[in-house]
Amino acid sequence: MSKPASTPSDPLREVEHAVLPVCDPATDQVVGEVPCQGPADVADAVDRAASAQPDWARRPTMERAEIVSEVGRRLREDDRALSRLITAEQGKPLGESEAEIAYAASFFEVAAAEIGAIVPEEIVMTGKRATIEYRPMGVTAAITPWNFPLAMLAKKAAAALATGCGQIVKPAEQTPLTAIRFAEIAASAGVPDGIIQILTGDPDPLGDAILRDPRVRRFSFTGSTEVGRLLMSRAARQPLPVSLELGGHAPLLVFDDADLDRAIEVTMAAKFRNAGQTCIAPNRILLQSGIHDRYVEALSRRAAALTSGRGVDGVDLGPLIDDAAVAKVETHVGDAEEHGGDIVLGGGRRSLPGLADRFPEPTIILGADPRMLCWREETFGPVCPIRRFETAEEGIRLANDSSYGLAAYVVCGSASQGARIAQSLEYGIVGVNDGLPAVAQVPFGGVKHSGFGREGGRLGLHEYLVPTTISRVD
Ligand code: ADP
Repeated sequence: MSKPASTPSDPLREVEHAVLPVCDPATDQVVGEVPCQGPADVADAVDRAASAQPDWARRPTMERAEIVSEVGRRLREDDRALSRLITAEQGKPLGESEAEIAYAASFFEVAAAEIGAIVPEEIVMTGKRATIEYRPMGVTAAITPWNFPLAMLAKKAAAALATGCGQIVKPAEQTPLTAIRFAEIAASAGVPDGIIQILTGDPDPLGDAILRDPRVRRFSFTGSTEVGRLLMSRAARQPLPVSLELGGHAPLLVFDDADLDRAIEVTMAAKFRNAGQTCIAPNRILLQSGIHDRYVEALSRRAAALTSGRGVDGVDLGPLIDDAAVAKVETHVGDAEEHGGDIVLGGGRRSLPGLADRFPEPTIILGADPRMLCWREETFGPVCPIRRFETAEEGIRLANDSSYGLAAYVVCGSASQGARIAQSLEYGIVGVNDGLPAVAQVPFGGVKHSGFGREGGRLGLHEYLVPTTISRVD
């Protein structure tokens, strides 16, 4: 279906259907509004999904795959309008919104290609044989964050659609318009009514109602570790299987023999995308002594040249999503300074006439250490804490000194050293000389407090399938 799940039908529910404004974080201008839905709407949405899903699942796999791939095509076709919408409600530069659309579309293309490879398996034993079928889980639900309003939804919806599931999605309150537009595009590509539905409103009651509904068979969440813990405990009431893609605290290790230009390119791509608001952004930059000074000089030059402003104005850095995000960045920078960190670039805000005050300067902190907040918690801003190390063993120990385990980066001159270091890192995804390791073809997800479950590639589809064994005596 293409619209938020339902319309008010009785006076008691009208309170819930007050509208919620959606604002441009760069200007605070209202760019749209969405209904404030509640538990009754969740029940309606699950009803509709539960009646539509069996037919969707019965469609021949290749017919479904054709529709899934058409969703990807239409996302790419709608690129101009959709990128403006993402930038309007999220703030990121237009070019990054376009890249996000291409990334999102690739999940549909990969899911459509991979689903055909998942076929029943036959295990032959003495006197009997078993068939293992992969069946769609049924109605599924997702809660998505604001930093990649389209891509984080696409990862979940592509797998749900390709496997024959339905999905109820609650997008972040900051960025619901992209999700609503996505559902319209999916409907135009041939996704049947009820199979993808968007619910908007107060997250807590919506999430609670979703997780209580026994017809929901899987829950997928991308967001903070704190909220992930809460939702997992609520899912445990059924219990309901969950996938959690939570926070990250990526280390970026640069070794003496690294190509300096490559190291800077990897850093710029991984750190400053979305003004640092990504769960795979490097939060601890670990530099071997021999390259430390040259790297800091080169990074300072490049980071200082980054421009800030409205995403539609051709800038490098958009605003942070809200005032709390800016306050967190400033707390981390202040705390690092108190603990002896040396701020060699930035540390303040850029004041831009006519715009909201949400543009922290690109910031470099030398002498970062484990006592600092920025060493332990995600900063989610354009801040680069840097620390020096001597030996590879020390670098690896510092890199693994985190309760998170989502992404890590290594930049070095030798492929065999890169592979060896990567094997020692306790992270779900490691980029070696690669600042953008997360692509739709490969599984993405974390270890430790970064969560569990995988999205992308064939493994991502298995999250939405139940292996069912049918055993027969010969
Ligand atoms: P962030 O700190 O990046 O905003 P959150 O974990 O708070 O990350 O938000 C990610 C998603 O989780 C958003 O869609 C948000 O609305 C949702 N969310 C936050 N709190 C709750 C909650 N109590 N119940 C259900 N969903 C929630």
